[in-house]
Amino acid sequence: MSGFLSVSGLRLSYGRTEAVKGIDLEVRQGAVVSLIGANGAGKTTTMRGLSGLLKTAAGSIRFCGEDITNAPAHKIARMGIRQVPEGRQVFAEMTVDENLSLGGLQVGDSADFRRRREAVLDRFPRLRERLTQHAGYLSGGEQQMLALGRAMMGGPKLLLLDEPSMGLAPLFVEEIFKIVADLRQDGTTILLVEQNAQAALEIADHAYVLESGRITLEGPASDVVNDPRVIAAYLGDH
Ligand code: ATP
Repeated sequence: MSGFLSVSGLRLSYGRTEAVKGIDLEVRQGAVVSLIGANGAGKTTTMRGLSGLLKTAAGSIRFCGEDITNAPAHKIARMGIRQVPEGRQVFAEMTVDENLSLGGLQVGDSADFRRRREAVLDRFPRLRERLTQHAGYLSGGEQQMLALGRAMMGGPKLLLLDEPSMGLAPLFVEEIFKIVADLRQDGTTILLVEQNAQAALEIADHAYVLESGRITLEGPASDVVNDPRVIAAYLGDH
């Protein structure tokens, strides 16, 4: 037990449809953990359960020694779990700066707020160049950076990244994975959901394979990437 994030027997449903069927998951502090699986396997549902957007049907979620099962989403965010949702979901009508500010709403101290804003803008110079632009005018890759920057404004202990490379041009995909590597280097703990299994396994310490709502394989990412079943199902000829 890592004592950081421990998920036990988690079940999540949409009405009568059970999408996550009793999974156990451990994320150690400072690790990058990848969750891979086909479309509809339950990856996004798992993320939504962890961030409190979806109520737990059964099982438990513990974070930093506290039971957060079915805690309200705002409390979970305040505790330091920040989700970067699939499809970015930035506020198109608001400026880049306003979007970032929303991510830092819970940061009371204004000196702290300014420090974080500067750190985010140092990391994403493109955002600094576009601070006054409406987020809707940004490219997909820039919106992904904004979504990441917005999450980082909250000083996350655990980042939940849902398909950060989805729909991006190859150059941006490379850049996003470089940012994930940098965040890891800085000691940010990350749970990463990705269709791009190869890249997700290369960057991770530990990995889980989710199939039809169940974990079918887990282990050090360096083992998972060499598992014949994973190669056959997710990695093709790589
Ligand atoms: P993807 O890569 O396509 O996002 P995923 O692994 O993230 O896939 P989920 O989005 O978690 O999968 O979906 C898991 C299952 O739950 C699927 O069978 C899906 O059809 C179902 N599901 C997802 N969202 C809802 C919803 N709002 N209402 C009902 N069923 C849903």
